[in-house]
This record gives sequence, structure tokens and C-alpha cells, in this order.
Amino acid sequence: MKNWASVYLPPAPEGIKHSPLKLKDSYSGELRELSERSISSYVCGITPYDATHLGHAATYLTFDLVHRYVLASGRSLNFTENITDIDDPLLERAKRDNQDWQDLALSQINLFRDDMTSLRVIPPTSYIGVVEAMPIVMKKIEELIATGFCYEIDGDYYLNISEVPGAIENLPLEINDALNVFAERGGDPSRAGKRHPLDTLIWMRNRPGEPFWQSSVGNGRPGWHIECVAIALSTLGSGANSCISIQGGGSDLRFPHHYMTSVQVQALTGKPFASIYSHAGMIEWQGEKMSKSRGNLVFVSKLLNEGWSGEEIRLALINRSYESDFNWESTHLLRAQEKLTRWRSNLSRESAALATPFIQELADCLANNLDTEGAIAAVDRWCMATENGSEDASPGEMARAIDTYLGISL
Ligand code: ZN
Repeated sequence: MKNWASVYLPPAPEGIKHSPLKLKDSYSGELRELSERSISSYVCGITPYDATHLGHAATYLTFDLVHRYVLASGRSLNFTENITDIDDPLLERAKRDNQDWQDLALSQINLFRDDMTSLRVIPPTSYIGVVEAMPIVMKKIEELIATGFCYEIDGDYYLNISEVPGAIENLPLEINDALNVFAERGGDPSRAGKRHPLDTLIWMRNRPGEPFWQSSVGNGRPGWHIECVAIALSTLGSGANSCISIQGGGSDLRFPHHYMTSVQVQALTGKPFASIYSHAGMIEWQGEKMSKSRGNLVFVSKLLNEGWSGEEIRLALINRSYESDFNWESTHLLRAQEKLTRWRSNLSRESAALATPFIQELADCLANNLDTEGAIAAVDRWCMATENGSEDASPGEMARAIDTYLGISL
């Protein structure tokens, strides 16, 4: 898939100590440290319709901050993002709007690419659509069927979750809640013939009028979770204790998508998928989660067209606890604009407060489970010291640090 423009990352200022990044693993609730020299990150990408709303943007900005810290701290990063460019919701939307599903996908992928560029998100090392990855996905489905953990119902194949060690015991929700959420998010718990209601579809026999691919198990298309499994395992290194370092996405992917992905990887490799499963909170608008199904979406492209800058949108979305749901208000943009004006004003002085101690605070905050509010407050304190008359250094070092760590070029 055509990637978006690369982003220049200024090197971290000399003398800054980088603790290993600690991130909350959202299944165990533990803070876990990313101490390896090479970090592999898989971030679940969009299904290309209704892109790019602020909920999407907040998620990709969260993991962009993770990636920036990893790179600034001298570690290497291998980052994969997929695009779910064949899926039920995409086909349903195309049908509703009497549009070709591939045309709809392409238009939304182009829009997403432009929005990521405007928000200065570092592009993935591997940016892969499911359609182009179909041979890899089908091979992984064959491997999963060969494990003996799968069974067939009328040409559809399911993974038998009860057979995968730990899969039922470690469910992150009570069983009744798990069944309800599974049904809400694309699962089919009550289908006749399933051995366990939470068994996930890995291959779906061709339905009339739907696109299909030929495979050794017939004509059809893959289930959702196996697509990410195949793309992640084929592009990211296989670590010793877990296949990858981080699996990231919005908190609506915590269950079933990311959990079922980890179960499928466990079935295939006998290893955990990720060291850390990290999830960004949802963005709410007028008191409700911003989502396609509710239709209460605020789009990045609309805000850009109204004249807000990518920096303003970026700062407004990152100045919050990434894990928590966040009620969006247009005043957040005004406050971000005011803050950027203050930062610019201080950065344009000939001399300013010595930046190193404030940059160290900024880096320490980010290392502590991505405390962006603390990191932004450190820049504000540097502004205050400068406004109070400190003139010990040139402001250039702080300008570069704001770019490196926060992705804001001033
Ligand atoms: Zn995914």
C-alpha cells in the first residue's frame, strides 16, 4: 500500500537520559517496561470508510508518541499497520451508498494518508492492505487449520477456542459480557453448530454477490482477526518470549479483536503474541462515543478545511490521558491554539531558559506510561521560566525537543 510521507525526527538533545518506556498492559493492568533494543509494534489500521474521525486520529497519535519515544531513546523500531480493506462493514456501507466497495476503500485510504501527513504521524515501516496481503493471509489460515484447532460448518472454518491453552481461562471479561461484546462487534455467538459460542470465524465461504478469493478450503474470504495475525507475523520479528513488543489500537479493539488475535497466535506459535497490549481511550462527542454506527463523527479533514492546523489538532488530542475516554469539545482546539502561540512566542526569543532540565522532565513523563499532560506541562514551565527572565540558552533545543517527542514542529 502506498505509504504517507516520511517525517523528519530530530535527534534527542544530548545529555537526556531515556528510561525504558513503561506502558500499561490493558489485560493484566500492569505497567510493563520496553527494555529491548529493538521494538516491534503492530497497530491495527482503519477499515476504510468514515476516515479519519478524531477517534482514529487520537489512537494513531497515541502510538506515534510511543514510536517517537522509542526512536528518541536510541532503540530501533519496526512498525506495521494494516488496512482492513475487505470486511463486512465496508461492504455494507458500499451497498448502502450504491458504490463500488473498492472505490469507497480507495477514496478513504487516500483521505487517511493525507490526514496522517497533516498530523505528522511517522509512517509505518510496513503499511499493508488485507487485499494485497491475501496470499499471506490464506497461507496462515491453512497453517491454523493444520494445527487441528479448527473445524468446519458448511464451508466456514472456526477456531475452537476451548482447545487453545489458556484462551477461556484468561478471557478479559466475564463470560456473559464477553458474549454480548462479541455479538456487538462482528461475532456470531449463537450460530448453530459452533462448539463454543466465542469460536472465531477464520474463513468464510463465498456469499452470493460478495467478493471472494480461491483457496485450498474453497472460495471465500478471511475472518477479521486472522488478517492481522498473518500481516503481523509476516512483517515483524519473532521475539523470544512473545512474537512482538506491542499490539496497539483503540480500546474498542481490546475485545474481541485483540484478544482473539492473541488466541490465534497462541494456537499457531505456542507463544504470546505481544509483550504489551496497549489501548487508547475512545473520543466522545456530545456525551457519546464517537463512532461510525452512531454517526456522530468529527473528521480531521473537516477541521483542516475550517482552518485549524495539524499542530493544533494534534496538541488538542494528545493533551489528555491516552487511556481514558475523552469528551471532545471545540474549545480544546482554541486552548491548543493559545498554548502554541505562547510556545512560539518563547521559541522566537534570542535567548531563553536552559531547556535541558525541562526536556528531561518531558522525557521522563513520556516514559511513565505516556504521561503527555505532564510532558506538555514541562514545556509550559520552560515558557514560564523564560517569561520570568531566564536567558541562559538559545531556545532552539526546546524547539527540536517539542518536535522529536511531541511531533509538533514550530
Ligand atoms: Zn487488527
